[in-house]
Parts: sequence; structure tokens; C-alpha cells
Amino acid sequence: MNYLMGSIGEAVALLKQRALSPLELCEAALQRQETVASLRAFITCTPKSAREAAFHSQKRYDRGESIGPLDGIPVAIKDNFCTLGIPTTCGSVMLQDYVPPYSATVVKRLQKAGAIIIGKTNMDEFAMGCGTIDSFFGPTKNIHCSGVKYEFRHLKREPNESDPRIPVMVLENEDWCVSGGSSGGSAVAVASGSAFLALGSDTGGSVRNPASYCGVVGFKPSYGVVPRFGLISLVNSMDVPGLFGRHVDDIATMLGVVAGLDIQDSTSIPSELQNTQLPENPSLEGLVVGIPREYHWPGLNKEVVDVWTKVADLMETCGASVQEVSLPHTKYSIVCYSVLNPCEVASNFTRYTGVGYGHQVESHDSMEAMYALTRSAGLNETVRGRILAGNYFLLKENKNDYFNQALKVRRLISQDFDKVWSSGVHVLLTPVTLSAALRYSEFSALDNRAQSAAQDICTQAANMAGVPAVSIPVSLSCEGLPLSLQLMAPRGEDAALLSVAKWIEKNVDFPRLYVLE
Ligand code: GLN
Repeated sequence: MNYLMGSIGEAVALLKQRALSPLELCEAALQRQETVASLRAFITCTPKSAREAAFHSQKRYDRGESIGPLDGIPVAIKDNFCTLGIPTTCGSVMLQDYVPPYSATVVKRLQKAGAIIIGKTNMDEFAMGCGTIDSFFGPTKNIHCSGVKYEFRHLKREPNESDPRIPVMVLENEDWCVSGGSSGGSAVAVASGSAFLALGSDTGGSVRNPASYCGVVGFKPSYGVVPRFGLISLVNSMDVPGLFGRHVDDIATMLGVVAGLDIQDSTSIPSELQNTQLPENPSLEGLVVGIPREYHWPGLNKEVVDVWTKVADLMETCGASVQEVSLPHTKYSIVCYSVLNPCEVASNFTRYTGVGYGHQVESHDSMEAMYALTRSAGLNETVRGRILAGNYFLLKENKNDYFNQALKVRRLISQDFDKVWSSGVHVLLTPVTLSAALRYSEFSALDNRAQSAAQDICTQAANMAGVPAVSIPVSLSCEGLPLSLQLMAPRGEDAALLSVAKWIEKNVDFPRLYVLE
């Protein structure tokens, strides 16, 4: 089952040569899903519909008429994307029994391209958090140090040659590492080889953060490029469907499938990313890389600083011009987000009343009591806290001091990026997270809000500005945990950004995790 850790290109080639069938590939992915079930990457597994879809895919290959670039490829979907006939819980009691009557546009596009959905992945409740420890269904554990058997291999060495110098550590009991979040389940599904690709959502870093902790590629497209219809709203003005994969080329293939105008999402934009193909050997000639000086945040781990410097130096040696730049307002992104997020949450969450769909308490004395009891039983403390805060910020007497001010700061953050691009910089290179994945005991010592404030400092600004950003694994910490870097580019430059990410992937030779059978 080694092909589970390979690329989509390799899997599709095997499928086309008939050396592998979609049913075999689907079975292997379902088996892997079971092998790593203790990590709790999935809330719902869908073996029955996956096998049916794989059967149809097999028929197409038999007839020599595969329908798209993902025909027969197992994928996973974060549990906040609506999936027709498959429960969509958002990791919450509120939607525990919710089965949507329609599928999100991105889900439909994946299915149309032949992808096989093998399950819905775990997440922080309603995507609020950065650890996937706040799910009603329990936390998702990082695969690294988890007790699942794996080894590390370098792509540039002989296939199957493991790297014996990299020790594989196993942590016990409460000491497991968090997967990051809020899309931690999707990151673990991909890292473990249960799926080749996964959908996540990114409002402040929820794709890039878990990708960084789990050692996979996590891509947040430009706002509007990938439609949001059917993605259950958190912060409409910042939410984007995000993509997880183990290889940059796989992400480009997936982007080509899901990108493009959708008349059901008024914020979606036409894009020319369909059939995105990255150059075989991307070059750095003429590329200007900016290093934002403010991203040397207090608390940034030395190993992260070292690898950041090392990759910047390597890029310079290989033809890029690397220069220091300034994004002076980025330091306000978390505080600004702490106002804008609750305001949009307060508005979006009025729909969860227990009427129409979702959880409803059984006994109550009045309509009002029913709403109140339903919301307090159905939503966790973080969600309720944000609803309260948002309603406070939006009070007539407060709106100007909070919401309107935060919108102005958001514009300043966004203008910082514009200034950097207009000075000739093509991409920014920064850390994604301050350190490698934290231990659960360490992570849960802070509450959700404080943890997000600390963890999202490198990722949040990209959502404020709507620019594309990608997290790419580059090294391992001394404990054998992944360390990743982030690239950001001007809005609309998604393909150019992925080309630079591919250059890093090819030239840094990150040791990849292989699950052992
Ligand atoms: N950590 C941030 C929050 O809690 C961002 C989450 C996300 O990107 N969905 O809201």
C-alpha cells in the first residue's frame, strides 16, 4: 500500500496502466483510516458511498474514459462543508444530527472530477480554535510521536530508503502532540495517507496551522477564487476553502478542480486556474522575496528562526533577490480579528435556534426559553462567548468604537501588503507558527482565545488582506516534529505562489513521513 503515500500523478498513472484499480485504492485508504483511527481524524467515515463511487470510477477506467484529474482518488472533507446525505456536524452538538440536503460547490466539483469521498474530518467546534481539541467528538491527535508506526524518507534518495538518523519518538498518555486547527482532522487524514487530498477552511490560519504541525502542504487561496457556497459560515469576509496535500503539484491539481466562479457565491470571482499545471522545474531567476522584519515575533522558537534563515539563504544562492520588508500593522491583526470575528459570528449564528434544523432541547416553558436553552446546550463556551462579544461590539453605542475602528485597522493591514507588492516584491517568506506542534498538556494550559492569539500571529493577516498563502514543510525539529514556512503573494497570484512552493519542496528535500504497514 505504498502508493498511499505517493502523489496523485503516481496513483493516476497506476490506475491508467491498470496496475491498480480505484476499488483497490479505495480499500487501501479505508484500511489506513482504520489503522490510524485512534488519532480521531474523522468524525464520519463513509465507506459505503466511497466504495460505490470507486466502483463507478472503476467502470470508467475499464471503458477507458476517466472523467477528470481526480478520478478514483480518495479525498477527505472537513466537517463544515455541506455534503448531501452525509452528516455535517461542525464538531458541535448543535449540528450533531444535521444531514444537509445539498453539497457545497467545492464538494460537487471534486466529485465531478472523480474524487472518492472517504469521510468528514474532525475540527474545533464551528472552526473556532487552532488545536482541534475543541471538538464535541474529542480531539484529533498529531500523527507524529503518536504510537502509529512510521519512518522518515527523503524523496531525493532511493525510493523506500528510510532515514535511520531521524529518531521516531512516541509520547505517552496526556503528552501527545496537538494536530493544530481548526482543520486538524484534514491535516492528519492527509499526513497518514488516509486521503491524498483534503478540504479545510481557513479564516485566520486554520489550514496553514495544522498543515505546519503535521508536515503537509496547506494552501489558503486568494479570497473569492474558490467558492464558499456550502461552507458553513464563520467570518464570511475572511473564510476560504483551503486545500491539503502531501505534494505541491497535488494541490495545484486540486485547485484546478475547485477554483472558479460560482453564481451561488456572490463573492466568488472568475479565475483562470482551471487546469493549473506548475512548471516541471520552477526557477527563482528574477524573483524578489520579502522577509517581513516584524515576523520575528517574541516567542519565535530558535529552530524556526534557523530554518527560516536557511531557506531564505538557499533561495538567494539559487537566484532570488531576498530583501527585508515591513508590514507595520500586522501586529494589530489579532486584536482586530478579535473584534471582526465575533461581529460576523454574532450575525451568522442567529440561524441556530433549534427551529428548522439542528439541536433542540425537549422541555421548555416558552419560545424564548427554548431558544436560550437550545443555544446553551448546543454551542460550546467559545462559540457562546464570541456571540456575546459580537453583540456587545455591535450595540448602537459601541459599534463606532469597535467594529468601525477594526474595519479601518483591517484596511491598514491590507495596505501594508499592497505597498510591499508595489515595491517589486513577488512573495513573502515567513514562519507559519511560532514553534513545532505543542504537547496537549502545554497547549491546553491556555484557553482557546489566548491560544489563538498566540498561534495565529503569522497567519491571520493574509485573511484580512485576502491574499493567497501556503504552508510548506521544510525540516524536522530535534524531536522529529515538522517545521514549516509560509509563502504569501499578491491576490490572484495563486499559481505563481505554488510554483515557488514547489521550488522549495524540490530543493529543500523535507524528510517525509511514511506510515508502516
Ligand atoms: N484560530 C482562529 C479562530 O479561532 C482562526 C480559525 C480559522 O481559521 N477557522 O477563530
